[in-house]
Amino acid sequence: MSSNNDEEKPIHNDPQAQAPTGEFGLIDWIRSRARPGPRTALGIGDDCALLRVGPGAELLATTDMLIEGRHFALDAATPEQVGFKALAVNLSDIAAMAGVPRFALIALALPRGRAVDLAQRIFAGLRPLAERFGVDLAGGDTNAWDGPLVVNVTLLGETSGRGAVRRSGARPGDLIVVTGPLGGSLLGRHLRPGPRVEEALALHKIAKLHAMIDLSDGLASDLIHILDESGGRGATLDADAIPIHPDAETMSNRDGRTALDHALNDGEDFELCFTIDPDNAGPLTEQKPAHLTLSIIGTIDEGPGLRLRSRGQTRPLLAQGFDHLKTDHS
Ligand code: ADP
Ligand code: MG
Repeated sequence: MSSNNDEEKPIHNDPQAQAPTGEFGLIDWIRSRARPGPRTALGIGDDCALLRVGPGAELLATTDMLIEGRHFALDAATPEQVGFKALAVNLSDIAAMAGVPRFALIALALPRGRAVDLAQRIFAGLRPLAERFGVDLAGGDTNAWDGPLVVNVTLLGETSGRGAVRRSGARPGDLIVVTGPLGGSLLGRHLRPGPRVEEALALHKIAKLHAMIDLSDGLASDLIHILDESGGRGATLDADAIPIHPDAETMSNRDGRTALDHALNDGEDFELCFTIDPDNAGPLTEQKPAHLTLSIIGTIDEGPGLRLRSRGQTRPLLAQGFDHLKTDHS
């Protein structure tokens, strides 16, 4: 579709247009019609938007919504945990740009009848996290209705001295690194994500990170975002190098899928995946924060496609990560 044609069309109600499919098809559809102005340094397509708000000043902005019955159930998660997670997932998106979180806005749709109790407990859950990361609660919106609980957090932040790390900076020959073991987060870890904000800042200070994303949908699908945004690059992952969380082993024993499959495709690990120049692997592993494990899991290839190397054989890898518009998952 040519962009000229696009500009003549109304942005809705186009009978010729094919309906986009899947979450990312829909986001692409919106993105191709968004037409941001010059103050939007980076719009739709990364973990945060990057906004020019004054001479030399850039603002990071991200928003994420948690819906009862979709992202959590109140018989399995406390309202405090929901509040904690609602802020933590946004902190993770700021971490993915190596940014510094500063201000949060909290919008609530509260089930009538228990609105006040829920709002207070959500606040109690997120306030310690906001304090720990130096985030000011700057505003929000409060509604009550007959529907389920919905918590939406918008987080604003600043870029670090070295600038934001985008998804689009991966180069052929780069090493692909992850910050921790992956898989099985649905056993409970997904309720208490530890956003890698300080770690991202520390790593980006030691060496320039080329591209980065936080692992929310699953390593394979999230890495594909880096490859797509970096001009259609590819990657080869080393099966033996992918760090597998013990929870992935537990899940594997329960459902028969391999632990590696869980590590590649489960979402909500909230670790970081980034790419670096091979020359920087030494300094990063020597100077990284002591509590952090860095695993070099593969390399960026010139041509497209995601591949997995295992026991001397390389095969194409299909991503099966989370798509919010898919109807067949609970
Ligand atoms: P993340 O998992 O890092 O939160 P998402 O996959 O939710 O990222 O979103 C990918 C990109 O699409 C982001 O830049 C986000 O801001 C943008 N996006 C998602 N939904 C919409 C929407 N409805 N309108 C505009 N941009 C959107
Ligand atoms: Mg993200």
